[in-house]
Formats: sequence, C-alpha cells, structure tokens
Amino acid sequence: MLGQMMQMPLTIGSLIDHAARFHSAGEIVSVETKGGVENTTWGEVGANARRLASALRKLGLEPSARCGTIAWNNRRHLEIYFGVAGGGFVCHTINPRMGPEQMVYVINHAEDQVLFIDATFVPAAGQLAPALKHTKHIVMMGPRDEAAAEAVPGLKFFDELLETGDASEPFPELDENVASSLCYTSGTTGDPKGVLYSHRSTVLHTIVGNQPDALNISAVDTVLPVVPMFHVNAWGVPYIAAMTGCKLVLPGPNLDGTSLVNLIDSTETTLALGVPTIWMGLLAALKETGSKVPSLTRTVVGGSALPPSMIPKFAEYGVDLIHAWGMTETSPLGSVNQLLQRHTALTADEQAAIRLGQGRAPYGVDLRILDEEGNILPHDGKSQGDLQIRGPWIVDTYFGKDTSALTDDGWFDTGDVATIDVEGFMIIRDRSKDIIKSGGEWISTVTLENIAISHPAIANAAAIAALHEKWDERPVLVAIKSGEVTEEELLAFYKGKVESWQVPDRVLFVDELPIGSTGKVQKNKLREEFGNVLLADS
Ligand code: ADP
Repeated sequence: MLGQMMQMPLTIGSLIDHAARFHSAGEIVSVETKGGVENTTWGEVGANARRLASALRKLGLEPSARCGTIAWNNRRHLEIYFGVAGGGFVCHTINPRMGPEQMVYVINHAEDQVLFIDATFVPAAGQLAPALKHTKHIVMMGPRDEAAAEAVPGLKFFDELLETGDASEPFPELDENVASSLCYTSGTTGDPKGVLYSHRSTVLHTIVGNQPDALNISAVDTVLPVVPMFHVNAWGVPYIAAMTGCKLVLPGPNLDGTSLVNLIDSTETTLALGVPTIWMGLLAALKETGSKVPSLTRTVVGGSALPPSMIPKFAEYGVDLIHAWGMTETSPLGSVNQLLQRHTALTADEQAAIRLGQGRAPYGVDLRILDEEGNILPHDGKSQGDLQIRGPWIVDTYFGKDTSALTDDGWFDTGDVATIDVEGFMIIRDRSKDIIKSGGEWISTVTLENIAISHPAIANAAAIAALHEKWDERPVLVAIKSGEVTEEELLAFYKGKVESWQVPDRVLFVDELPIGSTGKVQKNKLREEFGNVLLADS
C-alpha cells in the first residue's frame, strides 16, 4: 500500500522560490570583482534566477545543457547557481586556480555550452576560447564593458542577457533525480573527475547539512562563505542560506585576512566558513588590526586537517571552531564535529581535544573502515583503516564514465585513512597516498605536521614519505620557519610527543610549500622533489 501524500519533487528551484516568497527582504551583501559592494535581497535573486532560466531557454539551450562558471563568490554567481539549475540546466563551477590546460579539459569534458566569467577572467577566457569545443556563448558577469567586448570576440554581458528573460515565467517542473550541478575534483593525479549532483541529492544535503548538530544556520545569522562557490558548491551554503533566509555575505575576490576582518566587522558576520589557510590569514590580521570580531560566534573549518593551535586561538575571540570533513564526491558533507551532551561538563581543553577530530556522520551518511585485506574494522577508536562512505548525496559514477566508482558492495572508498570510536567520532589519520610506511608500520603525516606547526618558530610544515634502503620509507619534514630554529632543535621538539621511531629523519627548511588549486599542500610535488633525500644521504 502506498502512502497518500503529495508528490513534490525536491528541486533547487523550490529552494529559491521559497526564499523569494517567504523571506524576500532578506539581505545579500556582495563584494564585487571590480571593487565596491552591491546589496541585494532574496526576492531579487529569485526574480533574476527566473529571468536567467527564461533567457537561457530563449538562447536555445536544451534541458541538462551544461553552463560553466569561472567566478568568485558574488551575487551574480548566486543567481547563476539558482537560475541555471532551476531552469533545468547544469551549473558547472570551474576552479580558476586550475592551470589553463586543465580548465580547457574540464570545459570540453563537461561540454559547457555557456561560460559565465567574472571580469577578472576576461583575459583568460580570451586565451581559452579557441580551444573550447562546445562553448557557444561566453557571458561576462556584469553590465556591458567595451574593453572586455574587444578582448573576447562575441562576448555577451550578464545584465543584458537577463533583460531578455521573463521573471514571471515559473521554473519548469523537473524530476528531482535530474542533474543540477557539476564539480570536478582537483585532479592531483590524472585528469580531474566530474561529480554530477542531482536536485534530490542537493536538497537532501541542504536539509541535513543544516541540522542543529551540523551547520545550524538560522534566519538570525549573517553567514560568510569564504569557501569558494567553485569548491563543492561552497559546501552547500548558498542552498542552506536560501532555505533559512539568513543574511548572506559574499566576499568576492579578496580573501586576505585584513579584507575578511573588515568584511566580518562591517556586516556583523556571525558564522564564516573556509579552509585552515584562510583562518591562519584571518588570525594574523586580527593581531595586526586589533579587531576582536565581536559579532563572530563560530567558524566552520574543513578541506584539510585543522591545526590544533587554531581552536584556543579562536577561543580568545569567543569564536567556536566547528570541524567538518568531506570531499567533492560527498557533496561535501561527510561528518561534522559537534559535542555530545556528556561533553558539556568537560574543561575547555578536553573539549578542544575532541573537536580536533573530524566528528560524526549526520543522518544519511554511513561510514566504515577496512583493513588492507578488506576486513571491516571495529569502531574502537584505535583500529585504523581505509574510510568508505555511502549515502544519498555520495557519488555513484563519475561524469562521463561507464563504470561505477563504488566497491562491489556499493560503498565509495574515500582514499582517507581513519579511525572511528564507539560513539561514532571519526578521525582522519592521513590520506592513503600520503601515509608513511616505515618498516611495515604506519606513521601519520598529519600527526607529525601538527607537532611541527605547534612549534613557535614554524609557520607551516608538511611531512612526506622519503624512500629508505632499510625501512622502505621514512618521514621527512619540509617546513617553513617563522623564527629561529635549527633542524636539531625541531627534531628534539618531537621527543615525548610521538614514539621515537616516528620522529622524522630529516627536516628540510624551505621558503614556501607548493599549494594546489583547493588550498592544500601538494605532497606529491614534495615527494618528487625530496623523496630521494635519504637515499642520497646514505
Ligand atoms: P581534492 O580531493 O580534489 O583535493 P576535495 O575537496 O574533494 O578535493 O578533498 C577531499 C579530501 O580533503 C578528503 O578526502 C580529505 O583527505 C581532505 N579533507 C577534507 N576535509 C578534511 C578535514 N577536515 N581534515 C582532514 N582532511 C580533510
């Protein structure tokens, strides 16, 4: 017997329609690419999204046509998010920090018919255009600009395109399982792989991602997604914001610490989200500017491991750090670290120790860990294994591939190595391709890095596996100094913090670490450069 309730598809159009209908005056602050701030509302974003969907239909786009964006976080990008998906097309967000070859690859692989670009990327678009096989329209996100029109032949302008659309045309009725957006992994090895989200997966992720024990955003919040809209849908924040009607602050291109402090203070931001490197910049700017960011109550951090010193440093400003884990393939929310009731009686230090882990799976996510032979390991907080995940917002098949990305029994292997304790708290110990195997024993690069970063004279550090004649691999630390420290002193600093056989063999000081397009240290590059240092020594 079937239930007898209404069938309403879970669509992205329904999120923005809700925003425009029930909190149309809700504010959006947008830092513009060419400078200055534009204010808009959920009502206007909703109207422009419908206008855009109508304009794209008039351009002749077929259902599910891909529309690429190369853009910062700003109001037009938000309108594209909702207008493209709401119109039944697919919003493909492109990471501008990819090299030009990878950008051409993903635009052609996705078969993007329209490419929306911010003013910053007009020169790049001019260079890429001849290599784009399917792109019929390049649209600059702004009003008409004669200099840009000369640089890119046939360039269209967003504000003019909108005028051709009709805001009174409702979004088409869509099956909730049709594709809504597309995001490629950063492709540190091999070509980037596309993850094609559906309306249903996105709406479910929106609802669950905003549970009280997840992002917990409400209508009284002012939310600043520093995490780019080209990085896994800005962790889903634009959709959650539309659902809740919170005030949204879009930071544009200036993501340095001082710009962010000024923006947080001027908009009275209550919640900000981003990767650890962003928060390192913010903490440095707080010291410099003397601001105490009084409005900010919490920041969400994810994308790479949270350095332990960050929790107490933010606590000085009364800001809670919420650690989350996920990946492009998981929409991205896989786990969030919020405390249990029994933790509320613990001291601040004890709570901070728990918060350093990646947290628990929300409803809808299932996690398991396996050993090298494929045996399922217990959730005892000690057994360490390959982390696998499943759920309704987890990838099944990469875009354009014929074969499933899953194990035979339907799980996605994350490439991370983790432990899970009896209460479900998960800790990422390493990525399986980064972890060091010394004489058959595993050494976590994350642990070695966290110790190095806690040294006052170290600004940043990465531990890598270097080849070793006797032990196969041994840890080597590549570090950036922020003060005076010698290799011997730093190695002595490890004493008592890890087992003696886990202490790195060498420390190599460098001026900078190679950072990839999603803000993470590229350890494969470091291994290429320094992976043989111990062989050369011996
Ligand atoms: P890419 O895989 O292209 O670098 P993703 O953003 O999809 O880009 O990265 C996902 C990976 O980032 C995870 O598999 C994990 O290794 C790492 N990661 C994400 N969040 C965290 C976190 N909170 N702590 C440690 N590692 C993290």
